[in-house]
Amino acid sequence: MSCKSCQSQNQSILNGEIAIHFPGPKGLDKPIVWVFPKLGVCLHCGLTEFTVPERELSVLVKGTAVEGAVVLDESVDRQEREGKVPSPGIDV
Ligand SMILES: [Zn+2]
Repeated sequence: MSCKSCQSQNQSILNGEIAIHFPGPKGLDKPIVWVFPKLGVCLHCGLTEFTVPERELSVLVKGTAVEGAVVLDESVDRQEREGKVPSPGIDV
């Protein structure tokens, strides 16, 4: 298959580890979603394609964490820093 941008045949499938953030100030209150897709990388122009898995895609659609998806929820982090929710395994 040729690259959609430059039509090069010089492409490779690589393993990816990507953190997806919502943009802008409102994004700070939304979860960061990690995906580990196979990346189709054009080794000529750099165009890269991958598919967000269904479970992680639902986090992006809803803007809230779903069971089983690898996310960082900043609102939980903030509560821990303010001492409202003790970290597991630590006596406070
Ligand atoms: Zn290309």
